[in-house]
Amino acid sequence: MTVKKIIKMKLSTRLIVLVVVLQAVMFILLAMNNAFQSMQYSEEIFTGALMGVVITLSLTAAITYSMTANLRKLEIAAKAMSIDQLEFKVELEGKGELDDLTGTFNRLAQELSEAKKALRKEHEALERESRFMQALLDGIDAVVMEARLPGYQFTFVSREAKNLLGYAVSDWLKPNFWVDNIQKEDVIWLKETILGHTEKGESFTIDFRMSHQQGHTIWVRAINSVEFDEDQRPIIRGLILDITEQKTAEDRIVYLAEHDSLTGLINRRRFQNELERSIAYAERYQLQGAVLFVDLDQFKYVNDTYGHQYGDEYLLDVSRRLFQVLRRTDILGRLGGDEFGVVIPKCSFEEAHTVALAMLGALAQESMEHDGKMVPVSASIGVALFPTQSAVPADLLAKADAAMYTAKRKGRAQVHIFSDDDTELWNMQSKIHWEERIRWALAEDRFVLFYQPVVEMRTGLITHYEVLLRMRGDNDQMISPGAFIDTAERFGLIREIDSWVVDQAIKTQAQSIKDHKPVSLAINLSGKHFGNLNMLDYIKDTIKTYGADPQSLMFEVTETEAVENLSKARGFIDSLREIGCQFALDDFGIGFSSFHYLRNLPVDYIKIDGSFVRGLHVDTDDRLFVKAIVDLAKGLNIPCVAEFVENSHIADVLIELGVELGQGYYLAKPKAEFIDGVIIDLHKRG
Ligand code: C2E
Ligand code: CA
Ligand code: CA
Repeated sequence: MTVKKIIKMKLSTRLIVLVVVLQAVMFILLAMNNAFQSMQYSEEIFTGALMGVVITLSLTAAITYSMTANLRKLEIAAKAMSIDQLEFKVELEGKGELDDLTGTFNRLAQELSEAKKALRKEHEALERESRFMQALLDGIDAVVMEARLPGYQFTFVSREAKNLLGYAVSDWLKPNFWVDNIQKEDVIWLKETILGHTEKGESFTIDFRMSHQQGHTIWVRAINSVEFDEDQRPIIRGLILDITEQKTAEDRIVYLAEHDSLTGLINRRRFQNELERSIAYAERYQLQGAVLFVDLDQFKYVNDTYGHQYGDEYLLDVSRRLFQVLRRTDILGRLGGDEFGVVIPKCSFEEAHTVALAMLGALAQESMEHDGKMVPVSASIGVALFPTQSAVPADLLAKADAAMYTAKRKGRAQVHIFSDDDTELWNMQSKIHWEERIRWALAEDRFVLFYQPVVEMRTGLITHYEVLLRMRGDNDQMISPGAFIDTAERFGLIREIDSWVVDQAIKTQAQSIKDHKPVSLAINLSGKHFGNLNMLDYIKDTIKTYGADPQSLMFEVTETEAVENLSKARGFIDSLREIGCQFALDDFGIGFSSFHYLRNLPVDYIKIDGSFVRGLHVDTDDRLFVKAIVDLAKGLNIPCVAEFVENSHIADVLIELGVELGQGYYLAKPKAEFIDGVIIDLHKRG
């Protein structure tokens, strides 16, 4: 048996060979020992025995080396594996017990190698994703954040946070960062609002002011979604955006909407709001104040004789003169063409009279001139006191107006303080006359509905009709609601009128379905009973009674009235929208800072007030204003309707500004019947 043959043997065979050889050696040694003892010492025998020992030792060494060779290979492979060289393969010499182990070892290495590759791929993908998310987070013009209650304790903010306020991300995460950096006066309501929403687990958007590290104020909008952790504690996640620019634009819109562009004075609506505030203040602190109604005596003459441009200068000069007389706390507004109003928040009867006389003095003091000719300046002033003579702004203004008429009748440049005699005169002129006429019209069925199409500006497609009320007069002439709606509102007759309109319009809609020519109708609701639950039930009942399609009914309410009764308005709107009706905010733009509220009113359309539309093709201010409204509405995903589309040029500008819907004499006038066909030609010229 050669050494080579032994090496190729299985390990077990090799062990057997080893044992046999060892036994043979032992046997020889024993035999030698016996021979040594029994026989004479023989050199040959000793040499043979020594040879045997040498051969045995060599064989043992050879077999041991061959036995451990494969184990060493495995050891090297294990070392390779330990330093991550998983491609290393073990190749054994010969066949043996280690084959299985080696196979398993190699398979393990292979599997590990593959798992490692997969892991690396996964890791790279995750890294890519993480880089992408980071880039996304950094790329958004908003702070992505996570916060906890109470208030807004940030637990995460993206890097944009640093750009927004100038503070490092780590500062944002410090306790109380939010509370320390919002306006002090906002802390309580903001905390309460946030708590209210988070407790209910509802998403919410909230605007508030924060201080920049450099001291200036930043307006932000936080868009939040709420989740709860395993301990049911709310987690707020969302975005914080910088809306300072938008707020500045909104403020500018509000400014434009509340001020008269010629004189810069506040306009009628804002004036009424200021009046309302002053009345409330006077009632609260038991004070007395006055409102003055100033009407120029010869403005029409001046305007007609010297032209509009001079007319404007004249008005500007008058407003400056009136302003000079007033104290800083008094409020001066331009109420209409040549009408001005003054609120004196705190004054006695005598003081009000004195101020009015001082105004007349300031106007008379110096004549105006035109081309060397003297132009007279004078006014008639009516005064009404609050809260004694009335605590309702419109009513009070009407009384001051009535007093002004009395002043006019007394001759020019007079002051008159309201008295009950004026009420009689005023009643005679308006209330009795119109109250009777409205009752008469209701009883004698002299109200008629007209319909004016609202049209998609790009296609000319009629989307719906606005329902407009008319009163048929003695000679069957059509009287516009402008002549009686105000009076009806003032004397509590509007409910009957609106009920009549609602009934007739819903009936008409139901009939249109039966006639297989279905129409959608927009009904005007007076803000006076807007939010009134009886009206709500009445509308729902009427829809049911006639079998009208609620989805083809829309209600228009003026933005000012909706905003004035915001919480009631919400409920009312929500309830009608639930059954499928739609809502439009009418006369949008002339209201009082309603832009801030728009987000809180669930409306389907905004109707841009006609006064901003009719001059759109010539007036750049109007254009800016309408664009601002459209941008705002687009941001909120609310389509706009422009009223008073009176010519093709306006239509073109509207299309250019992206206004979706239009209504006006150019497109179609209000008529007692619906238009045949569903398309209006937008390209007719003239
Ligand atoms: P509104 O809701 O703003 O209605 C639009 C008014 O603009 C309508 O006057 C309409 O005839 C008029 N109009 C339409 N296109 C043009 C145009 O191109 N140029 C001009 N200059 N005017 C245009 P109308 O019918 O005299 O109504 C006046 C206001 O009376 C309405 O203003 C609305 O506030 C109120 N009103 C009308 N019908 C009803 C009603 O049924 N119920 C209530 N509560 N109010 C009504
Ligand atoms: Ca309307
Ligand atoms: Ca309108």
